[in-house]
Amino acid sequence: MIDLSEVNKSYKQGKEDYQVLYDINLKINEGEFVAIMGPSGSGKSTLIDIIGFLDQKFKGEYVFDDVKVNKLSRKEHAKLRNKSVGFIFQNFKLINNQNVGENIALPLLYAGSKRKEILKRVNEVLDQVGLKGSYHKMPKNLSGGQQQRVAIARAIVGKPNFLVADEPTGALDSATSKEIIELFKALNENGTTIIMVTHDEKVANQAHRLVNILDGRIQSDEEVQIANT
Ligand code: ATP
Ligand code: MG
Repeated sequence: MIDLSEVNKSYKQGKEDYQVLYDINLKINEGEFVAIMGPSGSGKSTLIDIIGFLDQKFKGEYVFDDVKVNKLSRKEHAKLRNKSVGFIFQNFKLINNQNVGENIALPLLYAGSKRKEILKRVNEVLDQVGLKGSYHKMPKNLSGGQQQRVAIARAIVGKPNFLVADEPTGALDSATSKEIIELFKALNENGTTIIMVTHDEKVANQAHRLVNILDGRIQSDEEVQIANT
């Protein structure tokens, strides 16, 4: 479980502290599908960077599955990130001179998995994201939606505890966005915890819980009532 208590975050701007998050209390259980919305600059990315163990410089407490995240060394923090989180971004962040399979295999290579296991697992997730047979394609020959599927495959290949997605449909047209959200829903139905930042209300309404951030504060945190199609 993700458990943030009284989390405050400031950036240094010259000699001044510029506060971005205020008194964030947020618990996210395994299996949830949470959307985070809020105006540009309200602190959404800052918040999910803390949740995803990219940023350890904050005040307050973060406990993840009984681990006190604040107390970890930098190395332990990075290790927890690599083991526990899959990241998905607006601009896919694929490596353009490596093929689809190689891109997806990266986290397993870093983790030191065996070649044979890597191949098996990569083909498994390719199937799962609807890209069976695309192992040898290059990213530049794929559509935006297909590139995002590759990024999702790479995010899930190491069986992380949860996925963090920052504007995963921000670069996609509405039909393609819908496909990507359907994929998220399918992954979530299979037990994957998803935390997703989005500007798109239609996309957010497909999650089960909606957290609104305004000026660095949680303004509302509610179950999503209407499941739009
Ligand atoms: P958007 O919807 O535009 O992505 P956001 O809600 O994700 O916005 P954040 O990126 O979390 O917003 O930024 C919150 C505030 O913190 C902004 O005012 C931003 O300028 C500031 N900020 C973000 N990163 C840094 C940084 N590394 N150093 C200083 N200020 C930063
Ligand atoms: Mg952002």
